[in-house]
Amino acid sequence: MGDCIFCKIAKGSIPSKTIYEDSHFRVFMDVNPATDGHCLIIPKEHFDNIYDLDAETAGKLFSLATCIARAMRDALGCGGINVVQNNGEIAGQTVKHFHLHLIPRYENDGQYLLWKPHESDPDKLEELRKKIKKSI
Ligand code: 5GP
Ligand code: ZN
Repeated sequence: MGDCIFCKIAKGSIPSKTIYEDSHFRVFMDVNPATDGHCLIIPKEHFDNIYDLDAETAGKLFSLATCIARAMRDALGCGGINVVQNNGEIAGQTVKHFHLHLIPRYENDGQYLLWKPHESDPDKLEELRKKIKKSI
């Protein structure tokens, strides 16, 4: 993964504003933040996206996310935090190295990170439920 920017950040060959680092993960400030304090958690090993991530890494990463989220809440005094993770271009993924966004939210921060819900058709909902369940 020689040309992956987050592999370079993970290794420290490209500098980053690092909050936390251990042998498996790095947590650093997003260079183009959605809000003040927006940070990213990456595994040091390269995984393109959620489909590739192994269960052990995923578990450790989310455990770390809970710790970072509490630190952000206490340090920043934000009203809430959005945890966002994009997979695939259509979903907004621009860097193809798995990363979790932690985005602090403040009153009138000008961001809109919620989806627009629409009414569901019960038959379609059931059909989709069965399809996904079968695929697990
Ligand atoms: P995505 O759109 O893939 O979910 O998110 C990629 C994020 O990485 C974006 O929020 C973008 O601002 C951030 N980003 C891209 N390149 C760099 C970089 O070189 N350094 C840092 N700190 N963040 C980056
Ligand atoms: Zn990478």
